[in-house]
Amino acid sequence: MKRTLFDKIWDAHVVTEEAGRPAVLYIDLHLVHEVTSPQAFAGLAERGLAVHRPGKTVATMDHSIPTNGLPIADDAARNQLRTLADNCKKHGITLYDADSPHRGIVHVIGPELGYTQPGMTIVCGDSHTSTHGAFGALAFGIGTSEVEHVLGSQCLLQRKPKTLEVRFEGTLPPGASAKDLVLAMIAELGVGGATGHVIEYTGSAIRALDMESRMTVCNMSIEAGARAGMIAPDEVTFAWLEGRAHAPAGAAWNAAVDRWRGLRTDDGASYDRTIVIDASLIPPMITFGTNPGMGIPVTAAVPNPEEADPEARAALAKALLYMGLSPGEPLLGRAIDVVFIGSCTNARLSDMRAAASVMRGKKVAPGVRVLVVPGSQDVKRAAEEEGLDRVFRDAGAEWRDPGCSMCIAMNGDMIEPGQYAVSTSNRNFEGRQGRGGRTFLASPMTAAAAAITGRVTDVRTLMGGAQ
Ligand code: SF4
Repeated sequence: MKRTLFDKIWDAHVVTEEAGRPAVLYIDLHLVHEVTSPQAFAGLAERGLAVHRPGKTVATMDHSIPTNGLPIADDAARNQLRTLADNCKKHGITLYDADSPHRGIVHVIGPELGYTQPGMTIVCGDSHTSTHGAFGALAFGIGTSEVEHVLGSQCLLQRKPKTLEVRFEGTLPPGASAKDLVLAMIAELGVGGATGHVIEYTGSAIRALDMESRMTVCNMSIEAGARAGMIAPDEVTFAWLEGRAHAPAGAAWNAAVDRWRGLRTDDGASYDRTIVIDASLIPPMITFGTNPGMGIPVTAAVPNPEEADPEARAALAKALLYMGLSPGEPLLGRAIDVVFIGSCTNARLSDMRAAASVMRGKKVAPGVRVLVVPGSQDVKRAAEEEGLDRVFRDAGAEWRDPGCSMCIAMNGDMIEPGQYAVSTSNRNFEGRQGRGGRTFLASPMTAAAAAITGRVTDVRTLMGGAQ
């Protein structure tokens, strides 16, 4: 029987499956952070249970941790971090704590340290766990009660999702990146367009992406409503993983790669749905509204709710009101207050390089605050070895410590009410980056261009290319 990549991983992890009931799925790797784990550990304690497989559980501190190098000012955040440390110590779980040289955002360090591997089932109490699907893993976010189930049993109850192939053919044009590619997809599908499905990304444009770009694409699958996003592993994947601290080594590496080569959709296997997108037509994208599906080419005008279909009209009008935008106005040239380059979507070394390539030798526009927040201590060190921190600092940007930072605004980094930010993160919901703050989601290059001009800018104009 012909099977998709998803089918192969699903079938290999089903412990039991009865008709009409959720399957019991074995979980290979459980990633944990300070925000969604305290209740789950407390639930285990109430039942007198231990963590079933501590060796399959890895924890880090990312959401609440300050990125300014100062001690934690917030009592609740300090308590969350202390609770996580206590729970990890009690249950024998590896923790990348505040002082670890490998600490960082959970979806950055998992792959970086080689924990994330092809063919695995991976869960975390965090929506953007889909990131790890870039390696040909089935990876998805779970709720707090499910975190408790996985801690206690290393298994999870799951209904089998459907499959959606999103095939990107062609070559991304200059100025466009993986972030633009996925923003264009979400704009086309809508925020609920992939609900109930696991997306497999295929096509020549996906094969041409490096691993970090593939992570950016899979990261935002959830924003189209998908349960997960995945990409079949290939030579790019193997080259990126080889030699990482927790990847197999020696003979085990060769055996693993042999096994991983079979992790691809069989010729003739069918998906429940397929859509095809021409990547060569994707320009630099930006969001104008309050969900990631409200995206347009950076050169386009803000849509008019009156011209939208009736179901979308009210949400669009509400979004424009919150964003302080008028129907039909261009976003290009709109003054902005803050630029945030970071998050599990775009805080890897290649993202830092992309932003630095635009900012090198230039100055941040007067009055604009620019935060550049590497995704991990490893990314930070590597960027500093290349002198990227100097590029940002010399331009007038802040070079921060790793963490979720302004992606979630629960660690002291936030925008003020009414301010506009161009952000490389993944969610532009009302108040996500600070109460009353207004977020335009974009790529690292587009964010860096806005930092230099102080306005929403088509980065291609700074590259000497077409507009
Ligand atoms: S960077 Fe943002 S989306 Fe990613 S894990 Fe942190 S809070 Fe979640």
